Amino acid sequence: MKQVAILGSTGSIGRQALEVVAAHRGELGVAALTCHSNDALLEAQLASFQPAAAVLTDYAAYQRLASRYKGPTKLLYGEDGLLEVVTDQTVNLVLSSIVGFAGLRPTVAAIQAGKDIALANKETLVAAGALVTRLAREHQCQLLPVDSEHSALWQCLQGEAADSVDKLLLTASGGPFRGKTRSELADISVEACLQHPNWSMGRKITVDSASLANKGLEVIEAHWLFNLPYDRIDVVVHPESIIHSLVAFRDGAMKAQLGRPDMRLPIQYALLDKRRPESPWEQLDLTACGKLTFEAPDREAFPMLELAYQAGRSGGVLPCIFNAANEIAVECFLAGRLPFLSIPVVVETVLSQAQSFKAEALDEIEFVDAWARTKARECCERR
Ligand code: NAD
Ligand code: MG
Repeated sequence: MKQVAILGSTGSIGRQALEVVAAHRGELGVAALTCHSNDALLEAQLASFQPAAAVLTDYAAYQRLASRYKGPTKLLYGEDGLLEVVTDQTVNLVLSSIVGFAGLRPTVAAIQAGKDIALANKETLVAAGALVTRLAREHQCQLLPVDSEHSALWQCLQGEAADSVDKLLLTASGGPFRGKTRSELADISVEACLQHPNWSMGRKITVDSASLANKGLEVIEAHWLFNLPYDRIDVVVHPESIIHSLVAFRDGAMKAQLGRPDMRLPIQYALLDKRRPESPWEQLDLTACGKLTFEAPDREAFPMLELAYQAGRSGGVLPCIFNAANEIAVECFLAGRLPFLSIPVVVETVLSQAQSFKAEALDEIEFVDAWARTKARECCERR
């Protein structure tokens, strides 16, 4: 039985991963669960899955649970706890589904311990793609994509020679504000932003989907996962979210992966190592979904996509800075302290103050991330 450590088990991906585990209990076991502060949900998950260990990274939440919990799971606290569970010898696979840069250090530790990684946390590859892919090669770990677009590309690439690929085409729903002009985006509320038309996800990625930052992060993620230059990674808006991405081949053929907008399929494909057992959830009905449509992204109304391409092409630490500045700008937007349209302004301002250099050590990357966060906070306060 494959023993999985789920980092971020109380989040949108983590909860859906536990549904996948529950559907395949004979094959998948839960070795460890971790969360930041949702001790009530974590406690319920411990009762259902009885992992050997669990981690809370918020101290008050850890103390709350530790003071009442009487079950068999060992409770751990903080980053040390995360590092302990991801390197435990009983763990075969780590699902990296913490949100944001906080997922980087435990993912790196898991790779250094030789674990395969099912990767939902795209920020890890954006901030530290060179380091993470090099370590994965050195420690012979697989990086299994969980992000639906990257899972789709991975599925389309099965059985295909690398030199037959022309381009990767990432699909984007366009988010809740597709079709709006820049001036119409001026008074966007947090509530409107959190209403994604097709996907139910955590708050940070939902805002990123509305600004198209998410697609920018995914372009950089695809660059590292599939080792292709940026001019061979395109984005096409597909509002129905049925085609999850496509590969264009040199002979002119295109392959697409279709499915309902449901993360359980890509999670299952990664956790079960590309096998396709019958799933208990609803299947796609093409006649019910009717038309599939496509359009070009509006790069003027949604500048985060172009900023991500620029950061990716410049390389070095610029994608890390793009990510850090975006995380802070989104945090400020969600707290009601920054208008939606200022998110790209903050990111562009911080990027313009940065010098690009290659940082491949984890502490250098953490230093750059911290610098960019400070600059982004200053910039948010001025706006
Ligand atoms: P979420 O906000 O729903 O959940 C985040 C999880 O991480 C929670 O369990 C939370 O307790 C934990 N966490 C938050 N901050 C932490 C910290 N500082 N230290 C340790 N743990 C912390 O997020 P989500 O939507 O599940 O997204 C998780 C990751 O997966 C993100 O990187 C996102 O981009 C990616 N992803 C999500 C989806 C989706 O459908 N939700 C799809 C593709 C990729
Ligand atoms: Mg995605």
